Amino acid sequence: MTNIFDLSGKVAIVTGANTGIGQGIAVALAEAGADIALVGRSIADETAALVRGAGRRAALIAADLATIEPVQAIVDQTIAELGRVDILVNNAGTIRRADAVDFSEEDWDAVIDTNLKSLFFLCQAAGRHMIARGSGKIINIASMLSFQGGIRVPSYTASKSGVAGLTKLLANEWAARGVNVNAIAPGYIATNNTAALQADETRNRQIMERIPAGRWGAPSDLGGAAVFLASSASDYVQGHILAVDGGWLAR
Ligand code: NAP
Repeated sequence: MTNIFDLSGKVAIVTGANTGIGQGIAVALAEAGADIALVGRSIADETAALVRGAGRRAALIAADLATIEPVQAIVDQTIAELGRVDILVNNAGTIRRADAVDFSEEDWDAVIDTNLKSLFFLCQAAGRHMIARGSGKIINIASMLSFQGGIRVPSYTASKSGVAGLTKLLANEWAARGVNVNAIAPGYIATNNTAALQADETRNRQIMERIPAGRWGAPSDLGGAAVFLASSASDYVQGHILAVDGGWLAR
């Protein structure tokens, strides 16, 4: 029987691939057969070793996505080193925490520019290449705050709600051109991004009480959803925000 999840011969770009969810997704895509361009401002040596250990090629691409300046070079360098772009995972993201009444313009811009503006323009740069070839898979990393309001993270909530909206807009424009655009909304995953929450005893207890699965997620928990949305198994899935949250949204 054909393996509809097989990614052999495919090339994926994963941003923010040195750690956390990006690393988990890059390794899962490699284990499913894809070669990976590992993009980020911190060089993803450890992830590259894991990708190569899975028998796949890894390209290391240095880029700071605080601005859109590197987006075209990311696509060009991936094509130069790995030959094509079949899959884009927009994972790089940042968060700033402060009360809404005190929230600074700098904290607003830093989060929106990385999480939303660079994400859109990287979708555009990769999308042009995919549309020209008539196929491609884009996976944006959303959040529970694509559905909920959150607290003390106004720019993060705005950015992730924007990611959900953009995912649907791009699906509407590109579905008929062979490009699937979807998102994964992780629940509470133990990474650097959530270190402050994990360390806060009260918040940690409140979070744990609401997760039906009874535990924080691990980056590897995102792998199955990423392989699904990157593979032909999801060819008729468009503009969907797939929660991988241990049941958080079901409560
Ligand atoms: P993480 O461990 O802090 O990883 C974030 C990644 O994004 C790192 O590779 C980081 O690079 C990169 N990044 C941040 N700013 C960047 C920039 N300006 N240019 C290039 N790369 C940049 O956090 P994570 O939890 O894995 O987060 C990954 C994604 O999942 C983010 O979009 C986050 O919002 C989302 N998410 C996380 C959770 C969760 O519970 N952990 C839940 C929902 C959504 P550096 O190492 O160089 O900083």
